[in-house]
Amino acid sequence: MKLPPNIKQLEEILRSSKFVAGGFLGTDPRPLTEIIEHDLAELALLGFSLEQVADRMQFITKRALDGHGMTVQIDPSLSAIADESRGSLVCPWHDNQHFNKTVITASRGSLSVRWSDLSLHLIRAHAFFQGRGSAFRIEPRQLVSVIFSSQPSRAVSMNAYMCKACGFIYNPLDGDPLNNIPPNTPFEKLPDTWRCPMCGAPKSMFKPMPTKS
Ligand SMILES: [Zn+2]
Ligand SMILES: [Zn+2]
Repeated sequence: MKLPPNIKQLEEILRSSKFVAGGFLGTDPRPLTEIIEHDLAELALLGFSLEQVADRMQFITKRALDGHGMTVQIDPSLSAIADESRGSLVCPWHDNQHFNKTVITASRGSLSVRWSDLSLHLIRAHAFFQGRGSAFRIEPRQLVSVIFSSQPSRAVSMNAYMCKACGFIYNPLDGDPLNNIPPNTPFEKLPDTWRCPMCGAPKSMFKPMPTKS
């Protein structure tokens, strides 16, 4: 992971940042490296990569922005809304990146997570989900449960595939009721004409999910 050599200095910046109330580390007493390692391990356990999570957040962000402040339905149980805000934030890693302050809230059932473009960048580029107790801390487990259509524990149980275009997970246990595919249909058995029920991408856009061994 891209940790700069002057990590102590970075930690100071994160703890005292003026951009976020309470700083990026909140009340988390753990060193930055430990926070990052712990969240990466949890994400791996859930069966997702940083890239998959960030791509899906990006997709939801785009859709939410199209709603211009109105709630947008992303999948039958996932909705998202953008709270647009002027101004920009800089990445505390000092990589000269500026980010829109707009906050996206994604909700599934009683669970919700929220993020800004900066939070998304911190996850994608720095594997940093922010410290516990910070206003924008994102719990990997909660994030994954909200943004993906299939329960992660089930998704990785049996050769699930993910759409690279929109993050939809084809879970063979569920099949694809919208396209008359019965439960327990392996991905390989889907007709070549089958398309992603969420975005219409062809079968070739799907990649296998990592499996738990
Ligand atoms: Zn950065
Ligand atoms: Zn798709």
